Amino acid sequence: MKLQRQQLLINNFFMFIINCPYCGERDQTEFTCHGEAHIARPDNPSEISDEEWGRYLFFRENPKGTHFERWTHDHGCRRWFNVMRDTVTDQIIKTYKMGEAKPEISNE
Ligand SMILES: [Zn+2]
Repeated sequence: MKLQRQQLLINNFFMFIINCPYCGERDQTEFTCHGEAHIARPDNPSEISDEEWGRYLFFRENPKGTHFERWTHDHGCRRWFNVMRDTVTDQIIKTYKMGEAKPEISNE
């Protein structure tokens, strides 16, 4: 069976390797996903409606395809970073540091 580049077959379980932008490649068990990335806090929270505030707090994208997520390297450097991941294949397309620009989505 041909393995994808970021997967290792160990004891009949696929283990994903995640590239921490600070530490390099590590096992998936060292990381935690914290949901969608690039959600901007409203500039004027006291001036927006309860519905708009609720949308900011609770509504998230759930795309079939490319998704941008916030992750932490809990059992490593403990830093936050972003992940561009395909939700269909579970393939991590790119990892990048907080504050770096969101990568373009390729239509290949
Ligand atoms: Zn790290």
